Amino acid sequence: MADRVDKVDRADRADGEEFDLFVIGGGSAGVRLGRIAAGHGARVGVAEARFWGGTCVNIGCVPKKLLVQAAEYGAWAEDARGFGWDLTPGKHDWAAFRAAKDHAIARISASYRRMLEAAGAAVFEERARLLDAHTVAVGERRIRAARIAIATGGHPTRLAIPGAELGIVSDDAFFLPDRPRRVAIIGSGYIAVEFAGIFAGLGSEVDLVYRQPLPLRGFDTDLRVALAEALVAQGVRLHPAARPLAVTASGAARHLALADGSVIGADLVFWATGRSANTAGLGLETAGVATHASGAVIVDEELRTSIPHVYALGDVTDRLNLTPVATAEGHALADTLFGDRPRHVSLANVPTAIFTAPPIATVGLSEAAAAARGPADVYLTRFTPLRHHLTGRARRVLMKLVVESASGRVLGAHMLGEDAPEIIQGLAVAIIAGATKSDFDHTIGIHPTAAEEFVTMRTKTRVAGLAEAAG
Ligand code: NDP
Repeated sequence: MADRVDKVDRADRADGEEFDLFVIGGGSAGVRLGRIAAGHGARVGVAEARFWGGTCVNIGCVPKKLLVQAAEYGAWAEDARGFGWDLTPGKHDWAAFRAAKDHAIARISASYRRMLEAAGAAVFEERARLLDAHTVAVGERRIRAARIAIATGGHPTRLAIPGAELGIVSDDAFFLPDRPRRVAIIGSGYIAVEFAGIFAGLGSEVDLVYRQPLPLRGFDTDLRVALAEALVAQGVRLHPAARPLAVTASGAARHLALADGSVIGADLVFWATGRSANTAGLGLETAGVATHASGAVIVDEELRTSIPHVYALGDVTDRLNLTPVATAEGHALADTLFGDRPRHVSLANVPTAIFTAPPIATVGLSEAAAAARGPADVYLTRFTPLRHHLTGRARRVLMKLVVESASGRVLGAHMLGEDAPEIIQGLAVAIIAGATKSDFDHTIGIHPTAAEEFVTMRTKTRVAGLAEAAG
């Protein structure tokens, strides 16, 4: 251990500094950074005021996936009848599910604290703020550190309209005492469409209210069209091009008034209208750390802020707000600072999934983004998976490859369908390795699967970007 400690660069360390690195925020980014840095022999402190593991573990990805799975069982129980099972889904017990979920999440969250301690990091369960560029106030203590990392994440925001406080945000959705009968969700990003699927799957009536013509702005258009169809098939009422004006209450009921004069009645109004960086009250100004107008911390490729020995990573920087990006950044920064392995995380070709029913997963460029760069061959297939020939459930798969015409390189793979996240994770390796369509064609499929369609698409659906290229 002693020689590992000696490897730590002590150039910035002044007398009386207790830590080589102090991390503010014990979420995905902060815990990974603290744990790996401590493993490299650095003296590390990590402060977390709310819950270890942060948003993802406690009020994000992990409990969300459990909710998605809870919702799936209802559909599976119905589908089992198509296979000869004499099953009738009963009532879903929200309270029993919540207790089981809370128990699992508490265990996972505690393991994040234990991982840090096992690696030798000092943990502080208090709010921390910068007093100057080398000093952090943690509760009553003043701590000096050679380097400071800000990994405080973000929080969901509401629209600034009258009555907005009558609606909940995703933080609250995990602790509802009962399942609402009618839910109005505003937004059509990740959180909105995932919770629309969750509540619909559990038996709630869902209205999805959004300002775009299609949900999931920024994703491939074919995926967006297919998602709108899938939401309708699930019974979700879509309100595209809608603008909320106000929320009012009468007793427990809520009324969401829209600009077109219509009013949506609901038991729960749910704002899924984006997130903001957690930088208020952190002392960033005092320490001289620059932020964007939104409050997000400005960083360079090496995650340095405007103060060279102060770093920021994860959602607080508001670049690509995904847990695996945050953890990868934490790992890379620890290796760079203390592990003799300088590197940074590329934000190109980051695969991502949206846990709708069925889920979406995607890696690389959409057709439109590829076409903007030059001609692109598009391979597209839509089909009913084998299972649903027996269940009769309206659940079609969409699979799509976007290929650079000139080089044959696969630039994007997109899927809506069962197991899409599991399938696209593997394809992401091929795409990052620079696989061409001919590499896909030479790969033998696994039969019978949906995944095999990705290696058996032989007929071009269209060539995109030709007009742009000609012009
Ligand atoms: P998103 O940024 O994905 O979506 C925000 C939604 O709110 C969009 O539909 C947006 O519309 C709408 N919106 C924003 N401002 C307004 C406005 N003034 N009026 C009307 N509508 C508005 O944020 P989310 O809250 O869904 O999620 C936050 C982030 O968390 C995501 O970006 C993602 O990075 C991460 N996340 C990842 C998940 C995963 O990996 N599966 C799951 C959940 C979250 P418009 O599109 O028109 O801007």
